[in-house]
Amino acid sequence: MMKSINPATGEEIATHEPLTPAQIDAALDRATATSATWRTTPIAERTALLIALADAYHAHRDRLARMATLEMGKTLKSALAEIDKCVAAFRHYAQAGPAMLDGGSIPLAAGGKADYVWLPIGPVLAVMPWNFPYWQVVRFLAPCILAGNVGLLKHASNVQGVAALMQEMMGVAGAPEGLFQNLPIRSDAVAAIIADDRVAAVTLTGSEGAGRAVAEQAGRALKKVVLELGGADPFIVMPSADLDAAVKQAVTARVQNSGQSCICGKRMIVHADIYDAFLDRFSAAMAAVKAGDPFDPATDMGPLSSEEQRRTVQEQIWKMQAAGATLIGGEALPGPGAYMTAGILTDVPTDPALMGEEIFGPIAMLFKAADIDDAIAIANTIPFGLGSSVWTTDEAEEARFVRDVQAGMTAVNQMLASAPEAPFGGVKRSGHGRELGPFGLHEFMNLKSVYRA
Ligand code: NAP
Repeated sequence: MMKSINPATGEEIATHEPLTPAQIDAALDRATATSATWRTTPIAERTALLIALADAYHAHRDRLARMATLEMGKTLKSALAEIDKCVAAFRHYAQAGPAMLDGGSIPLAAGGKADYVWLPIGPVLAVMPWNFPYWQVVRFLAPCILAGNVGLLKHASNVQGVAALMQEMMGVAGAPEGLFQNLPIRSDAVAAIIADDRVAAVTLTGSEGAGRAVAEQAGRALKKVVLELGGADPFIVMPSADLDAAVKQAVTARVQNSGQSCICGKRMIVHADIYDAFLDRFSAAMAAVKAGDPFDPATDMGPLSSEEQRRTVQEQIWKMQAAGATLIGGEALPGPGAYMTAGILTDVPTDPALMGEEIFGPIAMLFKAADIDDAIAIANTIPFGLGSSVWTTDEAEEARFVRDVQAGMTAVNQMLASAPEAPFGGVKRSGHGRELGPFGLHEFMNLKSVYRA
């Protein structure tokens, strides 16, 4: 049984019975049958469905957003913004997508040519996390529909209400049965689905541990896998930066979604010349962040997604304190609900094992860098390389950061945020492959070469 528990109150909202093996088998048969027809549909039919989905999400915006707030505690205003972003992604692939499916032609030295065309690959399994419960799925689903593939969703156990609503939206938009199927299953049912010949490929967004397990299963089955995993992103501030803007966005980056975002700045690395000024302003701004009822528009930050998640964050804090770090703020609040205040850890030892910890909560680590080399060295010490944010008005410094910070994404003088048009993904243990833009679309397509005289 999978439970949805409201992290703001600790109350159980719903229970969800996992599918039986026979039900999973029937779902895979449906996926196979729909894949055989959907792969041949004209592109205009696929883009019409994407527009219908955008309209459905827009029309059901409030209901969808409320379910996310109830199940994982994000503020209602941020849940609404997440739905709007999904609408934008559906529209983006409807409008810009067809051109991404254009093939091309390469003349061959020996004579003749190789034309290339983008073809669908079939049913793709998506294993998804709870933190942006609609957006993570939509950035898989929109290109999946456009590609002519069909989707199977294993969503996180705690957001099965969201998963069911996403299934419902497919019906509202008039999608063929089997084009996208929510599979309410636990993670122990995933391996058999990956191994099944009816499934062509798998994509996972989640933790390093889940990534390793799924990549291993996909490797055994010789199937393509895209992995969007965790990180402990650097947020580097140099003396030439606009300090007020940097502080403001450092706070937003660290506390958005109660700190439970894969690409938010988690390690603030600040040049020694401005470290004290940054710390003063940053600690005052973090202390002013209001944690409370996620349905209240005045709230900055709801609870963490569960009591267990808060406990995990506390244990990480205690481990760092035991190693010599100092905590400012970052207290668990008494009473019902998995609430905690925003906090900062200073004096964290620059041990990769410690500062490579992904703190999935509103706690920033703050480091002092002697110069740009030191800042880049601190940034790169950890085994992850998802996003990064760099603050400088010096062009040479900016070029160094772009070249040398080991990350799949670098935002300059702004916090990092994903956009439907741009590639998204990481290097090192943050995963491989890309989502979004044409790159995400092509990950799960067959690039066929057609040789002609
Ligand atoms: P998680 O525990 O890894 O869960 C993610 C998904 O994987 C869930 O559906 C989960 O199912 C499933 N899962 C867990 N272990 C599995 C296994 N051994 N085999 C198959 N499936 C398995 O991660 P989370 O706590 O939900 O999300 C937080 C993590 O995701 C963080 O590390 C965060 O950085 C990362 N993340 C990355 C991105 C990105 O784009 N790079 C975006 C968002 C989040 P159950 O819920 O049933 O366990």
